Amino acid sequence: YAAAMPVDLSHASKVLDRFVVRPGSRFRLKDHDPGWRGEGDLAELSVKELKAKGRAFLERNVVALSRAQELLWANGTYGVLIVLQAMDAAGKDGLIKHVMRGINPQGCMVTSFKQPSAEELAHSYLWRISKALPRRGQIAIFNRSHYEDVIAVRVNPHWLERASLPPSVLDRMPPRRSFWKRRFDEINAFEEHLVRNGTVVLKFFLHLSRAEQRRRFLERIEDPAKNWKFSASDLAERAHWDTYQEIYEETIAATSSAGAPWHVLPADHKWVARSIASAIITRAIEALGLAPPQVGDADRAHLAQARAALLAEE
Ligand code: ATP
Ligand code: MG
Repeated sequence: YAAAMPVDLSHASKVLDRFVVRPGSRFRLKDHDPGWRGEGDLAELSVKELKAKGRAFLERNVVALSRAQELLWANGTYGVLIVLQAMDAAGKDGLIKHVMRGINPQGCMVTSFKQPSAEELAHSYLWRISKALPRRGQIAIFNRSHYEDVIAVRVNPHWLERASLPPSVLDRMPPRRSFWKRRFDEINAFEEHLVRNGTVVLKFFLHLSRAEQRRRFLERIEDPAKNWKFSASDLAERAHWDTYQEIYEETIAATSSAGAPWHVLPADHKWVARSIASAIITRAIEALGLAPPQVGDADRAHLAQARAALLAEE
């Protein structure tokens, strides 16, 4: 299907595969450089040139994605679920803003998952997730997701106390390793169910370096226009940096499946992460091989009648 790709992406399509986490492969976060910014000519560019190149690439891709989304909508057969996970300040919001820019708002829905409400905690952790899933023809973006329930909650297990789980599920605090493994199984089964029933599932981890997070936090603190982006909890979670990295690594390895693969995106350069995400999403929708829906004989007869009626009007 490489032939169906816009010319600009044919080279990228080979490059894109390197960001997929192959199920069953030995996955090490250390093998992925958050500062990656392309190879060959790209690696030689200045940061400013790289940004311009990224912008231009994204600009073309936004058009391709918009076309792909229109076919998705017209066919009404498949939904697309995009899951975004990352440490704070990795650029999830900017990615959504720039990558989805060309999309018809009718065909797209973004849900940001925060600390669960009392009502959400009175249900299983997949309840609020299920309600936000894409309908056929639609793209749903999860800004954070059910993965918080095996990542942030695992780093802060006392949050589980509010979830009122039965003792047969949560028999001690902090929970045993087997508790998280069961959740991985539940998530894999849930996603497999979605995939089998027509949802394309694409999961992205925006891989940021600790040094770049520090730089972005300082910018948010020092620039009054960015103060609102800094929250009190940001430093508390940063203090758990190494634990988060370990848990992300284990979670991604355990939940990257053929149907619902994880992609690890280098996120220290925002335009690099955005360009790659945009190309991967476009490629996945194009791979469905959708064409504009064709009308059947009966509908064609109706069209002919309608045409005749309209032409007969004064
Ligand atoms: P930004 O900081 O860029 O505005 P954000 O996604 O970090 O975006 P916040 O409101 O800062 O949004 O944070 C949401 C918080 O909610 C995160 O710290 C996340 O870990 C937490 N959260 C999300 N889902 C859950 C969950 N199921 N259980 C516990 N905490 C969760
Ligand atoms: Mg935050």
